[in-house]
Amino acid sequence: MSLFPSVEACLSQAELIVDLGALVDNWRKLAARIAPAACAAVVKADAYGVGADEASRALLGAGCRVFFVAHPSEGARLRAVLGADAVIYVLNGLIEGEGRLAAYAAHALRPVLGSLSDVRLWSASGLAGQHGAALHVDTGMNRLGLHRDEALALAPQARALGLDLVMSHFVSSEAPDDPINARQIADFEAVRAAFAGLAASMANSAGLFLPQRPFHDLARPGYALYGGNPTPGAPNPMRAVVTLRAPIIQTREIGVGESVGYNATWRAKRPSRLAAIGIGYADGLPRALMGTDAHSGGEALVGGVRCPFVGRVSMDLTVIDVTDAPAPVRPGDLVELLGAAITVDDVAARAGTIGYEILTSLGRRYARTYRN
Ligand SMILES: *Cc1c(COP(=O)(O)O)cnc(C)c1O
Repeated sequence: MSLFPSVEACLSQAELIVDLGALVDNWRKLAARIAPAACAAVVKADAYGVGADEASRALLGAGCRVFFVAHPSEGARLRAVLGADAVIYVLNGLIEGEGRLAAYAAHALRPVLGSLSDVRLWSASGLAGQHGAALHVDTGMNRLGLHRDEALALAPQARALGLDLVMSHFVSSEAPDDPINARQIADFEAVRAAFAGLAASMANSAGLFLPQRPFHDLARPGYALYGGNPTPGAPNPMRAVVTLRAPIIQTREIGVGESVGYNATWRAKRPSRLAAIGIGYADGLPRALMGTDAHSGGEALVGGVRCPFVGRVSMDLTVIDVTDAPAPVRPGDLVELLGAAITVDDVAARAGTIGYEILTSLGRRYARTYRN
């Protein structure tokens, strides 16, 4: 008999449930919003941490045909998962090197050309013309993308370069009142007009909810597919995709004045009941969720009631004040850290970051389950 029966590992392990039905619903909802424009899916960074293989397969099954990744290696993997039907663009463009170009050819990946140097490499590669590619035009990010005038000068070569998409990216689409949105849309319209035969794409998740409806031919949502709110400050129109639950390892009672965790940053003001769970910052629970005497941090849903994190979040452990939980909690009981009630956006706000970072930091030690 094994000294460490696997059932024990299961009992103490946190579970991450990815609801592929909700993911597909989210994609369908966005696709319906922008029809007749097509809706792609951005699945970079392992589909924002939820699992690119499973997420992309589900989206392909729902009718999604166009996928965006950041790296050629992500594209190569996706090609193996999705087969020949999917169109796969690689956002980060070409980076000099034979191996890179070979990967585009071998896996039928379409580069998003993001600089004049990318364009030159592509045109010299022999792949241009037998292979699709997108042109990324910068309208304000100053990150990737050709300057507007550089792009306009390339318009006569669009066919020779094998271009099939012209795209740009919003700076502040989650802030609909920011005048930069209208300026970017106008600049992109000018470029788009010069590439009349090509499909055009501008909107990310929040861009799909801008009053200007900058849908063009193809939208590129990521975050909203995974349940993030594309309309911050207003109710979230998307369904939660990720649920994170962890079992309680131990409970204990402490008296007034006793502290919790490293450096004693939280002290009990009343006799308190505490529960320790076996996940911490190594699992993507931000350390910024610590609950101290001075400020409140993260929360967990315990028996349907929100209970606060107390003390510092440590590497593999977090302590929750369960004094106000409706029924006595016991080791083995599950608490919920992320889901429909405690949303990705909630957690991010409490940690002083964005939901994108919460999702893409989700740990590797969870037992992952894919529903539907
Ligand atoms: C990541 C990314 C997207 C998706 O953005 P979301 O805000 O997650 O919808 C779209 N386009 C580009 C160029 C990106 O880098």
